[in-house]
Amino acid sequence: MRMKFPLLCMLIIAITVLLLPTKTEATSTPQRSIGLHDRMLPFQAGEVRTVNTQMVVPLEKMARYLNADIIKTANQMTVTKNNTSISYNYKTNETVVNGEIETVSTVQLIDGIPYIPLRFLGEATGFKVDYLSNILTARIYTDTYPHLSHPEFIKKVKTDRQPKPSSKPTTSPPASSDKPIVYLTFDDGPNHSTTENLRILKEYKVKGTFFFVGSQINYNQALTNQAHDEGHYIGLHSMTHDRSKLYASSKAFMGEMQKEADLIKKVTGHTSVLIRAPYGSSPYVTPAMREALKSKGYKLWDWDVDTVDWSISEANYQRIVNNVKNGVEKARRANDKHIVVLLHDRAQTNKALPAIIEWLQKSGYSIERYNPEYHVTQNFGNHKGI
Ligand SMILES: [Zn+2]
Repeated sequence: MRMKFPLLCMLIIAITVLLLPTKTEATSTPQRSIGLHDRMLPFQAGEVRTVNTQMVVPLEKMARYLNADIIKTANQMTVTKNNTSISYNYKTNETVVNGEIETVSTVQLIDGIPYIPLRFLGEATGFKVDYLSNILTARIYTDTYPHLSHPEFIKKVKTDRQPKPSSKPTTSPPASSDKPIVYLTFDDGPNHSTTENLRILKEYKVKGTFFFVGSQINYNQALTNQAHDEGHYIGLHSMTHDRSKLYASSKAFMGEMQKEADLIKKVTGHTSVLIRAPYGSSPYVTPAMREALKSKGYKLWDWDVDTVDWSISEANYQRIVNNVKNGVEKARRANDKHIVVLLHDRAQTNKALPAIIEWLQKSGYSIERYNPEYHVTQNFGNHKGI
Protein backbone atom coordinates (compact mmCIF):
# COMPACT_ATOMS: atom_id res chain seq x y z
CA MET A 1 0.00 0.00 0.00
CA ARG A 2 2.67 2.45 1.10
CA MET A 3 4.70 1.81 -2.10
CA LYS A 4 1.74 2.69 -4.28
CA PHE A 5 0.94 5.97 -2.55
CA PRO A 6 3.25 8.34 -4.54
CA LEU A 7 2.00 6.81 -7.77
CA LEU A 8 -1.59 7.46 -6.71
CA CYS A 9 -0.69 11.05 -5.86
CA MET A 10 0.83 11.59 -9.27
CA LEU A 11 -2.22 10.12 -10.90
CA ILE A 12 -4.51 12.42 -8.94
CA ILE A 13 -2.41 15.45 -9.90
CA ALA A 14 -2.56 14.35 -13.53
CA ILE A 15 -6.36 14.02 -13.39
CA THR A 16 -6.68 17.38 -11.63
CA VAL A 17 -4.55 19.04 -14.30
CA LEU A 18 -6.61 17.38 -16.99
CA LEU A 19 -9.79 18.76 -15.42
CA LEU A 20 -8.66 22.36 -15.75
CA PRO A 21 -8.90 22.89 -19.51
CA THR A 22 -12.24 21.11 -19.67
CA LYS A 23 -13.77 23.84 -17.52
CA THR A 24 -13.41 26.38 -20.28
CA GLU A 25 -14.68 23.78 -22.71
CA ALA A 26 -17.87 23.45 -20.69
CA THR A 27 -19.55 26.45 -22.29
CA SER A 28 -19.33 24.93 -25.76
CA THR A 29 -21.13 21.71 -24.80
CA PRO A 30 -24.90 21.67 -25.38
CA GLN A 31 -27.14 22.66 -22.48
CA ARG A 32 -28.05 19.73 -20.29
CA SER A 33 -31.07 19.45 -18.03
CA ILE A 34 -31.95 17.66 -14.84
CA GLY A 35 -35.22 15.88 -14.14
CA LEU A 36 -36.15 15.11 -10.54
CA HIS A 37 -38.72 12.33 -10.71
CA ASP A 38 -41.15 13.68 -13.34
CA ARG A 39 -40.21 17.36 -12.98
CA MET A 40 -37.62 19.28 -14.98
CA LEU A 41 -35.63 21.42 -12.56
CA PRO A 42 -35.61 25.13 -13.42
CA PHE A 43 -31.86 25.65 -13.69
CA GLN A 44 -30.83 28.71 -15.65
CA ALA A 45 -28.97 28.41 -18.97
CA GLY A 46 -25.32 27.62 -18.27
CA GLU A 47 -25.90 26.67 -14.64
CA VAL A 48 -25.58 22.94 -15.22
CA ARG A 49 -22.01 22.33 -16.43
CA THR A 50 -20.15 19.44 -17.96
CA VAL A 51 -16.68 18.75 -16.64
CA ASN A 52 -14.78 15.84 -18.16
CA THR A 53 -18.03 14.37 -19.52
CA GLN A 54 -19.43 14.58 -16.00
CA MET A 55 -22.46 16.71 -15.19
CA VAL A 56 -21.82 19.05 -12.30
CA VAL A 57 -24.38 21.18 -10.49
CA PRO A 58 -24.36 24.01 -7.94
CA LEU A 59 -24.29 22.10 -4.66
CA GLU A 60 -26.57 24.35 -2.64
CA LYS A 61 -29.26 24.76 -5.28
CA MET A 62 -29.38 21.06 -6.11
CA ALA A 63 -29.45 20.18 -2.40
CA ARG A 64 -32.51 22.41 -2.01
CA TYR A 65 -34.29 20.60 -4.83
CA LEU A 66 -33.55 17.31 -3.05
CA ASN A 67 -35.00 18.71 0.19
CA ALA A 68 -31.68 18.16 1.95
CA ASP A 69 -30.79 19.98 5.16
CA ILE A 70 -28.30 22.76 4.52
CA ILE A 71 -26.18 24.38 7.20
CA LYS A 72 -23.92 27.27 6.25
CA THR A 73 -21.23 28.92 8.31
CA ALA A 74 -18.61 31.51 7.29
CA ASN A 75 -16.22 28.93 5.79
CA GLN A 76 -18.33 25.86 5.33
CA MET A 77 -21.49 24.43 3.85
CA THR A 78 -22.89 21.09 5.00
CA VAL A 79 -25.58 19.22 3.14
CA THR A 80 -27.32 16.31 4.86
CA LYS A 81 -29.81 13.90 3.37
CA ASN A 82 -30.69 10.27 4.17
CA ASN A 83 -27.88 9.89 6.75
CA THR A 84 -25.20 11.18 4.40
CA SER A 85 -23.49 14.48 5.08
CA ILE A 86 -21.29 16.31 2.62
CA SER A 87 -19.31 19.32 3.86
CA TYR A 88 -17.33 21.69 1.74
CA ASN A 89 -14.82 24.09 3.24
CA TYR A 90 -14.28 27.23 1.16
CA LYS A 91 -10.97 28.06 2.89
CA THR A 92 -9.23 24.71 2.64
CA ASN A 93 -11.09 23.57 -0.50
CA GLU A 94 -11.71 20.24 1.19
CA THR A 95 -14.73 17.99 0.98
CA VAL A 96 -15.67 15.83 3.95
CA VAL A 97 -18.13 12.99 3.35
CA ASN A 98 -19.58 11.37 6.47
CA GLY A 99 -16.61 12.61 8.53
CA GLU A 100 -13.89 11.45 6.10
CA ILE A 101 -11.73 13.99 4.29
CA GLU A 102 -11.45 13.20 0.59
CA THR A 103 -8.00 13.12 -1.01
CA VAL A 104 -9.33 15.04 -3.98
CA SER A 105 -12.21 17.31 -3.20
CA THR A 106 -15.40 16.19 -4.95
CA VAL A 107 -16.77 19.68 -4.59
CA GLN A 108 -15.00 22.28 -6.78
CA LEU A 109 -15.48 26.00 -7.06
CA ILE A 110 -16.61 27.18 -10.48
CA ASP A 111 -16.93 30.95 -10.77
CA GLY A 112 -16.79 31.03 -6.97
CA ILE A 113 -19.74 28.65 -6.55
CA PRO A 114 -19.31 25.15 -5.07
CA TYR A 115 -20.20 22.57 -7.72
CA ILE A 116 -20.62 18.84 -7.25
CA PRO A 117 -21.00 15.99 -9.75
CA LEU A 118 -24.72 15.24 -9.93
CA ARG A 119 -24.19 11.49 -9.88
CA PHE A 120 -22.06 11.69 -6.75
CA LEU A 121 -24.55 13.87 -4.87
CA GLY A 122 -27.52 11.80 -5.98
CA GLU A 123 -26.11 8.37 -5.28
CA ALA A 124 -24.53 9.40 -1.96
CA THR A 125 -27.92 10.62 -0.73
CA GLY A 126 -29.95 7.59 -1.78
CA PHE A 127 -31.12 8.46 -5.30
CA LYS A 128 -30.66 6.76 -8.63
CA VAL A 129 -29.19 8.82 -11.45
CA ASP A 130 -29.59 7.89 -15.12
CA TYR A 131 -28.49 9.92 -18.09
CA LEU A 132 -31.03 10.00 -20.93
CA SER A 133 -28.83 11.01 -23.83
CA ASN A 134 -31.59 11.53 -26.41
CA ILE A 135 -33.05 14.40 -24.36
CA LEU A 136 -29.70 15.52 -22.86
CA THR A 137 -31.17 15.07 -19.41
CA ALA A 138 -29.96 13.43 -16.24
CA ARG A 139 -32.84 11.94 -14.33
CA ILE A 140 -32.62 11.64 -10.58
CA TYR A 141 -35.20 9.54 -8.76
CA THR A 142 -35.98 6.93 -6.13
CA ASP A 143 -38.05 3.82 -6.66
CA THR A 144 -40.07 4.58 -3.52
CA TYR A 145 -41.55 7.74 -5.03
CA PRO A 146 -44.04 7.32 -7.89
CA HIS A 147 -42.71 8.40 -11.28
CA LEU A 148 -43.03 7.77 -15.00
CA SER A 149 -40.91 5.13 -16.71
CA HIS A 150 -37.93 6.50 -18.69
CA PRO A 151 -39.69 6.12 -22.09
CA GLU A 152 -42.81 7.86 -20.71
CA PHE A 153 -40.68 10.62 -19.23
CA ILE A 154 -38.76 11.12 -22.50
CA LYS A 155 -42.06 11.37 -24.35
CA LYS A 156 -43.37 13.94 -21.85
CA VAL A 157 -40.21 16.06 -22.07
CA LYS A 158 -40.27 15.99 -25.88
CA THR A 159 -43.93 17.08 -25.89
CA ASP A 160 -43.26 19.82 -23.32
CA ARG A 161 -40.36 21.14 -25.37
CA GLN A 162 -42.49 21.64 -28.45
CA PRO A 163 -43.35 25.32 -28.86
CA LYS A 164 -46.91 26.10 -27.84
CA PRO A 165 -49.11 28.99 -28.91
CA SER A 166 -48.62 31.55 -26.13
CA SER A 167 -52.29 32.58 -26.00
CA LYS A 168 -53.46 29.09 -25.11
CA PRO A 169 -54.32 28.81 -21.40
CA THR A 170 -52.69 26.12 -19.35
CA THR A 171 -54.96 23.17 -18.77
CA SER A 172 -53.14 21.69 -15.83
CA PRO A 173 -51.81 23.31 -12.65
CA PRO A 174 -48.26 24.64 -12.80
CA ALA A 175 -45.80 21.99 -11.68
CA SER A 176 -44.65 23.90 -8.64
CA SER A 177 -43.84 20.76 -6.69
CA ASP A 178 -43.72 17.00 -6.91
CA LYS A 179 -46.49 16.64 -4.35
CA PRO A 180 -49.68 15.01 -5.54
CA ILE A 181 -52.64 17.31 -4.92
CA VAL A 182 -55.52 16.08 -2.80
CA TYR A 183 -58.91 17.78 -3.06
CA LEU A 184 -61.16 17.28 -0.04
CA THR A 185 -64.75 17.56 -1.23
CA PHE A 186 -67.80 17.74 1.04
CA ASP A 187 -71.24 16.88 -0.31
CA ASP A 188 -74.80 17.52 0.90
CA GLY A 189 -74.38 20.67 3.02
CA PRO A 190 -74.97 23.30 4.11
CA ASN A 191 -76.11 21.89 7.47
CA HIS A 192 -74.95 21.90 11.11
CA SER A 193 -72.00 19.60 10.30
CA THR A 194 -70.76 22.09 7.70
CA THR A 195 -70.05 24.53 10.57
CA GLU A 196 -67.69 22.05 12.23
CA ASN A 197 -66.00 21.06 8.97
CA LEU A 198 -65.36 24.76 8.30
CA ARG A 199 -63.94 25.24 11.80
CA ILE A 200 -61.50 22.33 11.33
CA LEU A 201 -60.41 23.45 7.85
CA LYS A 202 -59.73 26.91 9.26
CA GLU A 203 -57.74 25.49 12.17
CA TYR A 204 -55.48 23.54 9.75
CA LYS A 205 -55.38 26.39 7.20
CA VAL A 206 -56.78 24.11 4.50
CA LYS A 207 -59.26 24.96 1.73
CA GLY A 208 -61.96 22.56 0.62
CA THR A 209 -64.61 22.18 -2.05
CA PHE A 210 -68.25 22.05 -0.93
CA PHE A 211 -71.06 20.71 -3.06
CA PHE A 212 -74.13 22.28 -1.50
CA VAL A 213 -77.73 21.26 -2.13
CA GLY A 214 -79.76 24.23 -3.39
CA SER A 215 -82.84 23.64 -1.22
CA GLN A 216 -80.63 23.83 1.90
CA ILE A 217 -78.82 26.99 0.79
CA ASN A 218 -82.15 28.79 1.13
CA TYR A 219 -82.25 27.98 4.86
CA ASN A 220 -78.53 28.41 5.50
CA GLN A 221 -77.53 31.54 3.65
CA ALA A 222 -75.19 32.81 6.37
CA LEU A 223 -73.34 29.50 6.40
CA THR A 224 -73.10 29.50 2.61
CA ASN A 225 -71.59 32.96 2.75
CA GLN A 226 -69.20 31.92 5.49
CA ALA A 227 -67.90 28.99 3.43
CA HIS A 228 -67.37 31.27 0.46
CA ASP A 229 -65.78 34.07 2.50
CA GLU A 230 -63.34 31.64 4.11
CA GLY A 231 -61.98 30.78 0.68
CA HIS A 232 -63.62 27.44 -0.06
CA TYR A 233 -65.09 26.59 -3.45
CA ILE A 234 -68.87 26.23 -3.53
CA GLY A 235 -69.94 23.76 -6.20
CA LEU A 236 -73.35 22.64 -7.46
CA HIS A 237 -75.12 19.50 -6.25
CA SER A 238 -78.66 20.14 -7.65
CA MET A 239 -81.66 21.83 -6.02
CA THR A 240 -83.50 18.70 -4.85
CA HIS A 241 -80.94 15.85 -4.64
CA ASP A 242 -83.91 13.74 -5.71
CA ARG A 243 -82.81 11.03 -8.12
CA SER A 244 -86.20 10.61 -9.83
CA LYS A 245 -86.76 14.33 -10.36
CA LEU A 246 -83.22 15.40 -11.19
CA TYR A 247 -82.41 12.76 -13.76
CA ALA A 248 -85.91 12.64 -15.32
CA SER A 249 -84.68 14.53 -18.38
CA SER A 250 -81.84 16.63 -19.67
CA LYS A 251 -84.05 19.67 -19.22
CA ALA A 252 -84.79 18.81 -15.57
CA PHE A 253 -81.10 18.21 -14.86
CA MET A 254 -79.91 21.45 -16.45
CA GLY A 255 -82.79 23.35 -14.89
CA GLU A 256 -81.82 22.33 -11.35
CA MET A 257 -78.16 23.15 -11.90
CA GLN A 258 -78.88 26.52 -13.47
CA LYS A 259 -81.31 27.40 -10.67
CA GLU A 260 -78.72 26.52 -8.03
CA ALA A 261 -75.97 28.45 -9.82
CA ASP A 262 -78.25 31.51 -9.83
CA LEU A 263 -78.98 31.05 -6.14
CA ILE A 264 -75.29 30.78 -5.19
CA LYS A 265 -74.55 33.83 -7.29
CA LYS A 266 -77.31 35.77 -5.51
CA VAL A 267 -76.20 34.70 -2.02
CA THR A 268 -72.41 34.88 -2.35
CA GLY A 269 -71.65 36.67 -5.62
CA HIS A 270 -69.69 33.58 -6.72
CA THR A 271 -70.18 32.11 -10.20
CA SER A 272 -70.06 28.36 -9.72
CA VAL A 273 -69.17 26.13 -12.66
CA LEU A 274 -68.37 22.82 -10.99
CA ILE A 275 -71.02 20.14 -10.59
CA ARG A 276 -70.98 17.01 -8.47
CA ALA A 277 -73.79 14.83 -9.78
CA PRO A 278 -75.72 13.34 -6.83
CA TYR A 279 -75.02 9.57 -6.62
CA GLY A 280 -72.22 10.01 -9.17
CA SER A 281 -72.35 10.79 -12.87
CA SER A 282 -72.51 7.15 -13.92
CA PRO A 283 -75.04 5.93 -14.99
CA TYR A 284 -77.28 8.96 -14.41
CA VAL A 285 -75.68 11.68 -16.53
CA THR A 286 -76.62 10.87 -20.13
CA PRO A 287 -74.69 11.89 -23.27
CA ALA A 288 -77.36 14.56 -23.88
CA MET A 289 -76.81 15.99 -20.37
CA ARG A 290 -73.06 15.99 -20.93
CA GLU A 291 -73.46 17.93 -24.16
CA ALA A 292 -75.73 20.42 -22.43
CA LEU A 293 -73.18 20.88 -19.63
CA LYS A 294 -70.41 21.38 -22.15
CA SER A 295 -72.34 23.97 -24.13
CA LYS A 296 -73.04 25.97 -20.94
CA GLY A 297 -69.43 25.76 -19.74
CA TYR A 298 -70.10 23.59 -16.69
CA LYS A 299 -67.59 21.07 -15.37
CA LEU A 300 -68.36 17.72 -13.80
CA TRP A 301 -66.42 16.15 -10.97
CA ASP A 302 -66.83 12.66 -9.61
CA TRP A 303 -64.11 11.31 -7.29
CA ASP A 304 -61.12 8.96 -6.95
CA VAL A 305 -61.62 8.00 -3.33
CA ASP A 306 -65.03 7.11 -1.94
CA THR A 307 -64.72 7.17 1.84
CA VAL A 308 -68.30 5.85 2.33
CA ASP A 309 -68.33 8.15 5.37
CA TRP A 310 -72.13 8.41 5.17
CA SER A 311 -72.41 4.69 6.03
CA ILE A 312 -70.03 4.74 9.02
CA SER A 313 -71.12 5.48 12.59
CA GLU A 314 -69.55 8.22 14.69
CA ALA A 315 -67.97 5.64 16.99
CA ASN A 316 -66.22 4.04 14.03
CA TYR A 317 -64.92 7.29 12.51
CA GLN A 318 -61.37 5.85 12.35
CA ARG A 319 -62.62 3.71 9.46
CA ILE A 320 -63.20 6.88 7.47
CA VAL A 321 -59.60 7.93 8.14
CA ASN A 322 -58.37 4.51 7.01
CA ASN A 323 -60.48 4.65 3.87
CA VAL A 324 -58.85 7.97 2.98
CA LYS A 325 -55.34 6.61 3.64
CA ASN A 326 -55.87 3.44 1.60
CA GLY A 327 -57.65 5.19 -1.26
CA VAL A 328 -55.20 8.08 -1.55
CA GLU A 329 -52.15 5.81 -1.42
CA LYS A 330 -53.66 3.61 -4.10
CA ALA A 331 -54.28 6.62 -6.34
CA ARG A 332 -50.72 7.82 -5.74
CA ARG A 333 -49.31 4.43 -6.70
CA ALA A 334 -51.31 4.71 -9.92
CA ASN A 335 -49.44 7.99 -10.50
CA ASP A 336 -52.53 10.16 -10.03
CA LYS A 337 -51.38 13.73 -9.35
CA HIS A 338 -54.88 15.07 -8.67
CA ILE A 339 -56.70 12.97 -6.13
CA VAL A 340 -60.31 13.83 -5.37
CA VAL A 341 -61.71 12.54 -2.07
CA LEU A 342 -65.45 12.26 -1.48
CA LEU A 343 -66.61 13.24 2.01
CA HIS A 344 -69.87 14.65 3.41
CA ASP A 345 -71.02 17.26 5.88
CA ARG A 346 -71.79 14.67 8.55
CA ALA A 347 -70.99 14.30 12.26
CA GLN A 348 -68.79 11.23 11.76
CA THR A 349 -66.83 13.12 9.08
CA ASN A 350 -66.29 15.99 11.53
CA LYS A 351 -64.65 13.47 13.87
CA ALA A 352 -62.42 12.00 11.17
CA LEU A 353 -61.36 15.23 9.47
CA PRO A 354 -58.50 16.36 11.77
CA ALA A 355 -56.76 12.97 11.47
CA ILE A 356 -57.32 12.96 7.68
CA ILE A 357 -55.69 16.37 7.26
CA GLU A 358 -52.82 15.57 9.62
CA TRP A 359 -52.05 12.35 7.76
CA LEU A 360 -52.18 14.02 4.33
CA GLN A 361 -49.89 16.84 5.44
CA LYS A 362 -47.45 14.47 7.12
CA SER A 363 -47.39 12.21 4.05
CA GLY A 364 -46.39 14.98 1.68
CA TYR A 365 -49.65 15.77 -0.08
CA SER A 366 -50.71 19.24 -0.98
CA ILE A 367 -54.35 19.90 -0.03
CA GLU A 368 -56.07 22.31 -2.38
CA ARG A 369 -59.52 23.49 -3.33
CA TYR A 370 -60.95 23.25 -6.83
CA ASN A 371 -59.41 25.84 -9.12
CA PRO A 372 -61.52 26.60 -12.22
CA GLU A 373 -58.50 28.15 -13.93
CA TYR A 374 -56.75 24.78 -13.94
CA HIS A 375 -59.60 22.38 -14.42
CA VAL A 376 -58.59 18.73 -14.25
CA THR A 377 -60.88 16.13 -15.87
CA GLN A 378 -62.36 14.01 -13.09
CA ASN A 379 -65.44 12.14 -14.19
CA PHE A 380 -66.08 8.42 -14.31
CA GLY A 381 -66.28 8.23 -18.11
CA ASN A 382 -63.15 10.41 -18.46
CA HIS A 383 -65.12 12.62 -20.86
CA LYS A 384 -63.04 15.61 -21.95
CA GLY A 385 -64.32 19.16 -21.98
CA ILE A 386 -66.46 18.81 -18.85
ZN1 LIG B 1 -75.07 14.03 -2.37
